[in-house]
Amino acid sequence: MRNPHSGAPFGETEREVAAYLADLSVPALLLSCVHMAEPSARSELLRGKLRPAGAMLNEFQGFMPEEDQEAARALALQLVLDWQRRGFPEPEPVDAAMLQEMMNFAVGGAVGPEYVPMMAEELELDGLDQRATGLLPGASGLPAIVIGCGMSGLLAAIRLKEAGFPIVVIEKNEGPGGTWWENTYPGARVDVANHFYCYSFEPADHWTEYFARQPELRAYFEQVMHKHGIDEHVRFGREALEATWDEEANRWRVRLDDGSEVEGAVLVSAVGQLNRPNVPDVPGHFDGPAFHTSRWRHDVDLAGKDVVMVGAGATGFQAAPAIADTVGSLTVIQRTAQWMFPNPGYHDAVGPGVGWAIRHLPFYGRWFRFLIFWGGCDAGIAAAEVDPAWEAQERSVSEVNEIVRTMFTDWIVGQLEGRDDLVAKVVPDYPPTGKRTLQDNGSWLGALKRDNVELVRAGVARLEADGVVDTDGVHHRADVLIWATGFRPNDFLMPMRVTGRDGVDLHEFWGRRPRAHLGVTVPGFPNLFLLYGPGTNLASGGSIIFASECEVRMMMGCLQILAEASGRSIEVRPEVVDEYDARLREEMGRKVWASPHIRHNYYRNDAGEVVSLNPFRLVDYWGWTKDVSPAEYVVGT
Ligand code: NAP
Repeated sequence: MRNPHSGAPFGETEREVAAYLADLSVPALLLSCVHMAEPSARSELLRGKLRPAGAMLNEFQGFMPEEDQEAARALALQLVLDWQRRGFPEPEPVDAAMLQEMMNFAVGGAVGPEYVPMMAEELELDGLDQRATGLLPGASGLPAIVIGCGMSGLLAAIRLKEAGFPIVVIEKNEGPGGTWWENTYPGARVDVANHFYCYSFEPADHWTEYFARQPELRAYFEQVMHKHGIDEHVRFGREALEATWDEEANRWRVRLDDGSEVEGAVLVSAVGQLNRPNVPDVPGHFDGPAFHTSRWRHDVDLAGKDVVMVGAGATGFQAAPAIADTVGSLTVIQRTAQWMFPNPGYHDAVGPGVGWAIRHLPFYGRWFRFLIFWGGCDAGIAAAEVDPAWEAQERSVSEVNEIVRTMFTDWIVGQLEGRDDLVAKVVPDYPPTGKRTLQDNGSWLGALKRDNVELVRAGVARLEADGVVDTDGVHHRADVLIWATGFRPNDFLMPMRVTGRDGVDLHEFWGRRPRAHLGVTVPGFPNLFLLYGPGTNLASGGSIIFASECEVRMMMGCLQILAEASGRSIEVRPEVVDEYDARLREEMGRKVWASPHIRHNYYRNDAGEVVSLNPFRLVDYWGWTKDVSPAEYVVGT
């Protein structure tokens, strides 16, 4: 069977192909040409002068000068037409040496040897999805309950179903997608490029924007759910209140909000980290409509209204520009300024050539995915590393971090000529990348420069019937109050009550430090798997979909051990979790996210510890979750 990524035959004319090529990433196109070329011509392409000069997050053209891009497109056109004339032969495989050379070419530098297997898996040059287990013998006797049908829950359901586990999915919303179902606020869009922010095993030829808006993302998860036949297994509009391990029966019993109970051998929590709204407990009362961004009141017409928005994180940053020209006035109350990463193409549409190339040019889509992943893979970790010898820790944590600070500051200040008042408010006073860095194409500062928008650098002291009083004592009049105040990511699995072996309550067991082996398995809680659990959020890059694919693969590895042993339970050894957690804690202590110079940070819990983030390199996490070590688990038979 032909490799699904090796390019389907096409009938387009030279002119049509040339028009499509104009939409493409030249580095990915050249690599596709390497596949199309006769093996004898490949080295010439890889060693020629038309080549990427480097790689960076969201830089799709490898810093190639315009004239080189043009020349490369002209060359590619001839190679594509030649491949068409030859009848679209399936590309000859590339050997390990050439693969390394192709990766190096793609990034305009060197891809470390430890990254090659992970990236090769992502590229799927052999057409095989290595993250799928295929049907597992014994799976049919182990029914699984998945709580949540967001991105991770849907993924788990797909993999479990493929492997033959009977599944039931419980979802509190009326549809799938989790965060992309709930967050309908104006301007909501993803900030990891979609040709990587999507399941690795699903086509990516349909995205209409590089960073899709919420309706397109929501539709994506719905469509994937239908395609894999998961909908018939989901109970929508039902919330799981309580899950209890029945020791005698080796079963999880899950009580739902309608009083019913679901029983299964395996329990998967895929409840997300960022969906319980954080609405600050501020004294006073506001008379007008007030709502949190994730519960957007579309029935409230903002046209001409005085609006106060509290919060300027990733959400406020998107919502404020989206409503600024509709409202009468907009006051943004920003307690802490945010660092932002320049991303001029943040709102760009995807040209028709991209989908065409993904469908028709060998591995174009896989190399484009590779380029996006590489730019966001582990490069951010270097900037987050604290150098204890670095003196000015309150402004940056290392030399690299200081370079990032300069780059970000220049980007911000460069947009604010003549607006020193705003510069003083929007340049953060803490080390860059210490809080979640936002993606910016100028729309945020563009909105702040509008006459009807005011940025207040303060907190909220109290509410009054007609507005908000900030912590400097200034009253801001409002018809509508919007809380863009984020979520409670440290309340893992709340408000669900989870009881494991010997009646141990999960939240009591965790206390203030939720922990799990690689964020997934917890001692004393057999057959329980957490997705997007403690220590798995990403602050340095990557994509949460990639992280979830790693976690689900680890879960499937555990279940494979269980099924093959005809076991009844699988449970991680406590010392394994203790050791991992100690390493995580130590690693976190070396990262900017734990910096004491950041006053407010949702990455930290009430005790001041960072328990939600993964401080390790993605390549390490990928390697650790890839193969489950049976020695780390106890299988009950
Ligand atoms: P957030 O980053 O936690 O931002 C909340 C904002 O509300 C901050 O400005 C925060 O100020 C402020 N705030 C919170 N409590 C406050 C209080 N008591 N008084 C005054 N201000 C207060 O939440 P978010 O913007 O919803 O984003 C959360 C996460 O969701 C993001 O980091 C990201 O992971 C995800 N997200 C992603 C996207 C995307 O991909 N494009 C979009 C939206 C959200 P401080 O900074 O001082 O705490």
